[in-house]
Amino acid sequence: MAYYLTRHPAYAPRQYRISLVEGTGIACGASGKAGGFFRDFSGEASPLQSFAVASLRQHRELNALLDRRRQTRSAGAVVVDPYLFTHTLMAEAEKAGVRVVHARVTGIECDGERPKAVQTSRGPITADTVIIAMGPWSGQASLLVRLPYRIPVSGYKGNSILMSPLNPVRPQCLFIRTGEGVDQEGSNNGSEIYLFPRHNGQVYIWGPK
Ligand SMILES: Cc1cc2nc3c(=O)[nH]c(=O)nc-3n(C[C@H](O)[C@H](O)[C@H](O)COP(=O)(O)OP(=O)(O)OC[C@H]3O[C@@H](n4cnc5c(N)ncnc54)[C@H](O)[C@@H]3O)c2cc1C
Repeated sequence: MAYYLTRHPAYAPRQYRISLVEGTGIACGASGKAGGFFRDFSGEASPLQSFAVASLRQHRELNALLDRRRQTRSAGAVVVDPYLFTHTLMAEAEKAGVRVVHARVTGIECDGERPKAVQTSRGPITADTVIIAMGPWSGQASLLVRLPYRIPVSGYKGNSILMSPLNPVRPQCLFIRTGEGVDQEGSNNGSEIYLFPRHNGQVYIWGPK
């Protein structure tokens, strides 16, 4: 998000000061541990389809930034190393003027309905606009500030393993369906296991808990 803010036509570093407050480390959460898999879900009735198409398009636009050798491609899909991907975007955002503050957000101070400052473990940061991007912790934002609504974001359990096989694996993603059912996102995918080979020879495996 910080990266895209700096790409907005109205962004001028002298006029707008953007601070990204991270409590643990860049890409320490889902963004660094994900499968890094993009596909367009074409032909599937998925509630995520328009979102997936948009993110695949954005990814193609980012090709100039991302080293193509760090991606695995198979028909209609791309696999990136999400940790490298996030750090690459963050480095570009920093080059464009974003300041990274390594601190925990402890509160958001408001003047009426407008934010005034973000309270952090390293002191307050003056702000007239605040974006809550706490990933699966976003639902806890109501502990930081009084919100007129609940943010319906939370986490659910799954397993992911990163393996380094001795022999090279072909650059093809594998989806294994082991049963029928509705998962916690409401998709009718039963128990699925995904295998994504990466550019560096590693294989990412994801499965339900
Ligand atoms: C195992 C797994 C596999 C996935 N695979 C894919 C995939 O293949 N393809 C795909 O498109 N998506 C995938 N996803 C989903 C995708 O990774 C996430 O939707 C995305 O990374 C969320 O990004 P985020 O920035 O919102 O959250 P995160 O990356 O989790 O970042 C949230 C950050 O907020 C910080 N934070 C929280 N509270 C505070 C606080 N009070 N103060 C300061 N900082 C705070 C945390 O430290 C963390 O760094 C996967 C997710 C998981 C968990």
